[in-house]
Amino acid sequence: MPRDEFRQFGHEIVDFIADYFENIESFPVLSQNKPGDLTAALPKSAPLAGEDFGNVIKDVNNLILPAVTHWNHPNFHGLFSTSASSPGVLGEMLSAAFDMKAMLWRTSPASTELESVVVDWLRQMVGLPVEFRGLIYDTASISTLHALAMARERLNLGIRDKGMSGRTDLPLLRIYCSEHTHSSIDKAVILLGFGARSIVKIPSNDRFEIDVEKLREAIADDKAAGHLPLCVVATIGTTATTSIDNVNRVADICERNGIFLHVDAAYSGSAAIVPEFQSYFKGWERADSIVMNPHKWLFTPFDLSVLYVKDLDLLKQTFSLVAEYLKVTETVMNQMDYGIQLGRRFRSLKLWFVMRYFGQEGLIARIREHCRLARLFANWIDADPDFEMMAPVPFALVCFRACPSGVEDLNALNERIMNEINASGEAYLSHTMLNGKFTLRLSVGNIRVEERHLQKVWKILKSKIGAVGEH
Ligand SMILES: *Cc1c(COP(=O)(O)O)cnc(C)c1O
Repeated sequence: MPRDEFRQFGHEIVDFIADYFENIESFPVLSQNKPGDLTAALPKSAPLAGEDFGNVIKDVNNLILPAVTHWNHPNFHGLFSTSASSPGVLGEMLSAAFDMKAMLWRTSPASTELESVVVDWLRQMVGLPVEFRGLIYDTASISTLHALAMARERLNLGIRDKGMSGRTDLPLLRIYCSEHTHSSIDKAVILLGFGARSIVKIPSNDRFEIDVEKLREAIADDKAAGHLPLCVVATIGTTATTSIDNVNRVADICERNGIFLHVDAAYSGSAAIVPEFQSYFKGWERADSIVMNPHKWLFTPFDLSVLYVKDLDLLKQTFSLVAEYLKVTETVMNQMDYGIQLGRRFRSLKLWFVMRYFGQEGLIARIREHCRLARLFANWIDADPDFEMMAPVPFALVCFRACPSGVEDLNALNERIMNEINASGEAYLSHTMLNGKFTLRLSVGNIRVEERHLQKVWKILKSKIGAVGEH
């Protein structure tokens, strides 16, 4: 693409993004497309001859936009509300241009060194001690996979060399987590060849936190039966309710038994930068590894997950494998030694942009505000007899349901309310099941969210109950 053409379309796309952010509320939050709509609108094969790029941009407007679910819409309250800040988007543009593959230091000094600097800035911001070293991966799922691989390596069972299949000398390895743990743990266990049967799901208490006594018992029983505990995963901010496992008590058990402790703070980790929330993170400094996702709640475009580990050499021992053509003489960090990927994206640039543009104070203020808004919404729920809270609100997720008197099937009612709201495009809520009860989840985490967006959802919810009353 000639320079002038690149400039023209580059400016057009930056204008497009600026307008998109400006007008984001004019879009339905969830795409109103039916499955297959976009596929049917596209040619079966790629064009033989190159096309005018202006037409491509037109198709973005006409075909792609209707198929977009707008995660950046301030009324996206489903799953976890995440958002791309403008400085983060600019970071993505530049790293695409550099197109660096951070494998060796020499192929990517900027990526290698900026990543170390930025994850250390983040470490300080969240209050973790200096012995934690961080690496950036794409997602928490992959960060956790690396953590469990490290835990396996630490057992010294020769699995790196000999594998696990065909061996009779291996005990059943056990991984412990609560029933509210994210499914990424299960996937890592499956992928690492432990088998799903090696996961022990510990029940949780009435606040959806891991039952530490039951954890202690499960480990003791397993050891008595000759099984080998590999790892405990504790979660600060579970996906369903953002409940907080008692990491200090879990760490006591792990230390006593010499078990690897991984802390999943994928969602909540960002909130550790807010001084008054530090108390939720007590004991996490005792973990062997911690994952947190700036792409979730630190306004960094997807994807960017950080894994902090205490024993960086163990991570290297787990993954390092140097082919002849990759051998170099510099004594430097070569990031290919610390994970599955050879080439890695220059992800730290966008987080660096975000941190520098907003500053620690700006980031703290935004997360604090999201938590204030979530508590405000929770207060509205609490004060209204037609609604009830279903879980505590430590961070910025509200779990609640409608419970108007005279309605027998509350699960059906709440499911219907959620589906109607989502279909309207006005807002997006998701759900979870808590003790058999269909629970609505409202997550507040968008950089563009204001009180009026929550008022809008509240008004819609109230009108749904009004409609029930009229029946
Ligand atoms: C979102 C989430 C994950 C998975 O995050 P990805 O980056 O999408 O893999 C894992 N654990 C918890 C607690 C989460 O909230």
